[in-house]
Amino acid sequence: MHSSQFPAEPPSNGMVERDLTVGDVPGLRSPASGADRAPLMFDVIIAGCGPTGAMLAAELRLHDVRVLVLEKETEPKSSVRIVGLHIRSLELMAMRGLLERVLQHGRQRPAGGFFAAINKPVPKSLDSAHAYMVGIPQPVIERLLEEHAIELGAQVRRGCAVAGFEQDDEGVTVELADGQQLRSRYLVGCDGARSTVRKLLGVGFPGEPSRTDTLMGEMKVGVPQEEIAAKVTEISETHKRFWLRPFGEGAYSVVVPAAGVSDRAEPPTIEDFKQQLRTIAGTDFGVHSPRWLSRFGDATRLAERYRVGRVLLAGDAAHIHPPIGGQGLNLGVQDAFNLGWKLAAQIRGWAPEPLLDTYQAERHPVAEDVLDNTRAQMELLSTEPGPQAVRRLLTELMDLDEVNRHLIEKITAIGIRYDFGAGPDLLGRRLRDIDVKQGHLYGLLHHGRGLLLDRTERLTVGGWSDRVDYLADPTAVLDVPCVLLRPDGHVAWIGDDQQDLDDHLSRWFGRPAD
Ligand SMILES: Cc1cc2nc3c(=O)[nH]c(=O)nc-3n(C[C@H](O)[C@H](O)[C@H](O)COP(=O)(O)OP(=O)(O)OC[C@H]3O[C@@H](n4cnc5c(N)ncnc54)[C@H](O)[C@@H]3O)c2cc1C
Repeated sequence: MHSSQFPAEPPSNGMVERDLTVGDVPGLRSPASGADRAPLMFDVIIAGCGPTGAMLAAELRLHDVRVLVLEKETEPKSSVRIVGLHIRSLELMAMRGLLERVLQHGRQRPAGGFFAAINKPVPKSLDSAHAYMVGIPQPVIERLLEEHAIELGAQVRRGCAVAGFEQDDEGVTVELADGQQLRSRYLVGCDGARSTVRKLLGVGFPGEPSRTDTLMGEMKVGVPQEEIAAKVTEISETHKRFWLRPFGEGAYSVVVPAAGVSDRAEPPTIEDFKQQLRTIAGTDFGVHSPRWLSRFGDATRLAERYRVGRVLLAGDAAHIHPPIGGQGLNLGVQDAFNLGWKLAAQIRGWAPEPLLDTYQAERHPVAEDVLDNTRAQMELLSTEPGPQAVRRLLTELMDLDEVNRHLIEKITAIGIRYDFGAGPDLLGRRLRDIDVKQGHLYGLLHHGRGLLLDRTERLTVGGWSDRVDYLADPTAVLDVPCVLLRPDGHVAWIGDDQQDLDDHLSRWFGRPAD
């Protein structure tokens, strides 16, 4: 068990959160009387210490929020599946000073060729200082994020499964599988695709069930590399859900369709892999000595709501889709990045009225878009003549740099533009990591505060200086006079007028301090 101690009293900045009342939350039970409730020991309890939960815990700790992460597994995951961190996630790592650690443990790869595994070069001049992909074992990125959260003061308790909860006007009583009760102001379900929190909340999870299963694993082979390479190239022409790639230390990463193999409820066996390899390649390549074997489906579902009162959902608990394009972990970590400062603001007492609800307003459409692009990609993997023809057509179209760029910006999440109302194209988008006089812009965002970047040197953040940093830099490479950045790096305002700025500071950062 990891731990760090918190004081039991509420935040000490003199601000208190605005309480919800049961009347705000349809369908909730009346609260137990205050005298019966356990003390509010935590501001936020997070169910699940996967990448989403760990990232959220760290983001909340940047604002001194008292966070407890409950993780049902006693040990971190042992599978060594490599996941791809895409550009926007790498930018987030740079914004919190984590990129060096990630790069030490991952392998950089070009940021192209992800859409439906259509092999195309990286589009020209992607708008990022971190325009590459990093392949990293999922347990390693999870460990790095968990360590980061703990360094910032989050408590992580392993072997603790959330089994129930009840919310009332002041907080949420969370019940663990062993019957223990804990209380916090908010609960966030980051507990993965089968989320207990989502189910108990009664939030619908509409979408499509899995239609095609795929086997994935890591194992040794019994034939020479040259023999494999020639065969794999030939089969890949027609079978898009297939690969057999060297993975280092004599191991191979193997992906094959799971059609017709053993019981879905049972974990796959090496025999299942052999059988499927023989079916599509005519040989099983002598595979043996598996390090791990897994099966995944293409179920595609999106939670109807991301928030009910004091309980929220993030990551796979809120959305699932096939892993094509490698977006799920990225999407969850980016949910956490969007939610963290907003929930912290609510708890610290400075959140303007609708701020917390902008989490769903901004992130639900992003997930809808990811679900759609994975649906499209899965169609393009089909071996049927129609989808194959569409794939050939798209392959041609992707020779147009603009088409290739559009698809890669989607997968890497740098094309996202939140709807902040009318304004220049940059409004609502994230700002790339530009050079500023102190070095790199993202280096100034490690503390999760807002930032006013002022090229006119005339403006001020006045009464918001406890939440928003100020940087006067006429040399900054920007083609607008000033930008106000939210803690997640999205552009909340562009202009040069102090009154207009103050209005936008109020919109995003609440009332100024006296
Ligand atoms: C084959 C494959 C390849 C993939 N490749 C990529 C890729 O390249 N890039 C990418 O971005 N994504 C990829 N993904 C998707 C990625 O693995 C998931 O989207 C990601 O793990 C979601 O993170 P999460 O934290 O939301 O949920 P999870 O990782 O599922 O974590 C949830 C955590 O909650 C815990 N938990 C569950 N229930 C409870 C409870 N009741 N109480 C307390 N704790 C609980 C679980 O033990 C777990 O630790 C891939 C997925 C698959 C299957």
